[in-house]
Amino acid sequence: MTQNQPPQNAQPPQPAPLPGVDRIIAVGAGKGGVGKSTVAVNLAVGLARAGAKVGLLDGDIYGPSFPTMLGLHGQPPKARGNVLLPFETHGLKAMTLGALVEEEKPLIWRGPMAHGAFRQIAMQTEWGELDYLIIDLPPGTGDVPLTMSQLLPLTGAVVVCTPQKVAQDDARRAVRMFQTLGIEVLGVVENMSYFIGDDGKEYDIFGKGGAQIMASQMDIPFLGTLPINTALRHNCDAGDPTANFTTQGQLADEFNALTQSFTTRVDDFLAAGGAQQPTISVT
Ligand code: ADP
Repeated sequence: MTQNQPPQNAQPPQPAPLPGVDRIIAVGAGKGGVGKSTVAVNLAVGLARAGAKVGLLDGDIYGPSFPTMLGLHGQPPKARGNVLLPFETHGLKAMTLGALVEEEKPLIWRGPMAHGAFRQIAMQTEWGELDYLIIDLPPGTGDVPLTMSQLLPLTGAVVVCTPQKVAQDDARRAVRMFQTLGIEVLGVVENMSYFIGDDGKEYDIFGKGGAQIMASQMDIPFLGTLPINTALRHNCDAGDPTANFTTQGQLADEFNALTQSFTTRVDDFLAAGGAQQPTISVT
């Protein structure tokens, strides 16, 4: 065995509780670029707009996108002693490693360093009382998202997927990763489901419904679809997710529907007994 291999009997990390935080939800994806961060940010904003106390943690530590998506560039984080004060923006409390490192500096970390950084920003941020903490995980099913999923006591996970077959295949792996860890997959969101052109016609670019079929084949709930939408992309780039909800129209309707189906699903899951602590060890 080389020095870099973990011992065969390596124990999974023990989840550390976050006092005052009621529901911890991870948003994951089988691969990057499918809109995982977009869903995490807008779900958090939707929950906050519905009256919940919401925290949002950027766990996508190799490519943190919250400084751009929440409009945090140029705002230095504040601290009290060695405790970070979250950014209060769009009705949320948010923290991102992107605000703590130099912009454009590559984050080149081995797994244990990445886990350590994630644990620190999760545990050393003054979240206060929260109904939900939404965590944007790194994409994929590698060591970093896997270990991060075990560092906090998750209520459950949401998997974001685009409709194409290859995206579904990756999303299946993400679903299996959570299930192997004993984490409830609360549901699948199909992003970039379809496109409505200026002519008002719906264009089925990637194969609308593919992620929904995958969810039903895997016997997990389907939470909703989001269209390809230029305003959504613009609002993400402009750091203004609130605009997705305040501009009347299809986008606001889709996000409100997604927020509602997510809330109903979490409430039902918790009413039925909720999350059991994972007992499976993955070596
Ligand atoms: P991931 O977190 O999966 O890597 P992001 O959420 O960062 O993906 O999204 C990647 C890019 O695609 C971003 O520029 C985002 O604004 C854009 N995007 C995501 N979903 C949509 C959508 N439904 N319509 C238009 N643009 C989108």
